[in-house]
Amino acid sequence: MNNKERAKKIKMIIMDVDGTLTDGTLLILPDGEELKSYNVKDGTGILLAHLAGLRTGIITGKISKSLEKRAEKLKIIDVYQGILDKKKTLSEILGKNNLKSDQIAYIGDDLGDLEVIKAAGFAAAVADAHPEIKKNCHFICNTPGGRGAVREFIEFILEAQDKWGMIETNIKNLTKTSKKKK
Ligand SMILES: [Mg+2]
Repeated sequence: MNNKERAKKIKMIIMDVDGTLTDGTLLILPDGEELKSYNVKDGTGILLAHLAGLRTGIITGKISKSLEKRAEKLKIIDVYQGILDKKKTLSEILGKNNLKSDQIAYIGDDLGDLEVIKAAGFAAAVADAHPEIKKNCHFICNTPGGRGAVREFIEFILEAQDKWGMIETNIKNLTKTSKKKK
């Protein structure tokens, strides 16, 4: 099966955070709180996926308040933080959303993602991912983590599913509704 065929089946895209949605940098405040920076391009990609009727989710080993805020803003419902066994969480997500593994896409960067990458129907590595991750992924982004890799992967899926027309219509409808509200 080629990547286009894999992408066509996807109903949900799950993302790692550190090194995938971010470039891996952590800023530690004196009180111990960690700050991360996210990329607007990835954020827009996630919104586009939602407009195309796809679900998105996050599985991360760390716990951070900033991620909670970011996910809330982007309306990502399935957010799992502080997860050591990502594959187990993936099974939970499959059950909860009534999906099969070939309907799940996953994007990650490091060894903690290896097992979940092997279990996902369509797996992607950011351009600067660990070599072992790249070896086990179907799709390797040209863009590094935190610089639009997630957007690149989402757009590949949207393209394969021929979703641009649907996205345009949904954007038009959203504009109409917001005009009515005014
Ligand atoms: Mg990572």
